[in-house]
Amino acid sequence: MDKRECIKYLNSGTYDIEINNRALSQKEAIYGKEIFLRGIIEFSNFCRKNCLYCGIRKDNKLLKRYRMSIDDILNRVEQIIRSGIKTVVLQSGEDTFYSRDLICEIIKKIKKRFDVAITLCIGERGVDEYKAFYDAGASRFLIKHETSNEKVYEKLHPGETLKGRLKLIENLKTIGFQVGSGNIVGLPFTTTIDYINDIFLIKSLDLDMAGIGPFMPAENTPLKNFMSPSVITVIKLLALARIVLKDVNIPATTALFSLGGADALKSAIDVGANVLMPNFTGDNFRKNYRIYDSKKPLDMTIISELIEKKGLVFSNSKGERRKIYVRNNEIGEKKSHFCWEN
Ligand code: SF4
Repeated sequence: MDKRECIKYLNSGTYDIEINNRALSQKEAIYGKEIFLRGIIEFSNFCRKNCLYCGIRKDNKLLKRYRMSIDDILNRVEQIIRSGIKTVVLQSGEDTFYSRDLICEIIKKIKKRFDVAITLCIGERGVDEYKAFYDAGASRFLIKHETSNEKVYEKLHPGETLKGRLKLIENLKTIGFQVGSGNIVGLPFTTTIDYINDIFLIKSLDLDMAGIGPFMPAENTPLKNFMSPSVITVIKLLALARIVLKDVNIPATTALFSLGGADALKSAIDVGANVLMPNFTGDNFRKNYRIYDSKKPLDMTIISELIEKKGLVFSNSKGERRKIYVRNNEIGEKKSHFCWEN
């Protein structure tokens, strides 16, 4: 589908069953019935930045802040491994307390003890730091572009530019990271055209994961009175993303679960989402990782029920994007049942 067709569909009132089926077929042709799991550990809610929509922004003085110790983190990684998950996401605000050396130490300790892929989601750092994290053993990095609308980006991220963010994404790719990005649907001041541009931006950057989730208002932020988008808008975008982005990993996000519950997750899977991200932060800390209000804990019980009901299976792999899996395992494209260029 081209941009014009995508915008027309997004602006129409209802689902198109044919588009939903096409998206699901696309996912099943690449990933079959498998769902990839990533265990998230939110290890610090300190942040030096002030994004207008975010509940853990620096100026939110009412939030109780926390940092996990290395032992706290290792204990949680162990829980993730015990659940049969082989990818860990270490997520935090932009917290420079965790220096380059400290992050490298955490990565090395995890890699020494566990056979697990490490994804970092820790925001903006210098290229030399990113390189050190990669050399220490982290292989994936999540950094959302948030919105492809440059003016809105600047309005909501004081002192920052979209160009700067995209440059960082390019740097991460050059270092060798598998990079995931994505946008916030319904971010104040954005439009349906922006959301389609977001998908095509991810395509043009050839990213490995596309996190497309709804805006959720957060108390004590300048955008606390803005509304979330409808679940249907998010689901339509996920279907379009699967069709346009083909083998890119697409999660059914925790924000979508918080907005629409398990039914929204089911709908996301029905249109080709192939990744779920259970939270292993632990109740004591998790309640203060309040990037938005009414954040619901997505745990293994909810996920297992969902997977069983849908007749799906957990993948026992590290959940690489198919293109990367094929490359790493030296499987020729002819042997693969999916053609990257179609
Ligand atoms: S969105 Fe990220 S960088 Fe911005 S305030 Fe929140 S945690 Fe910090």
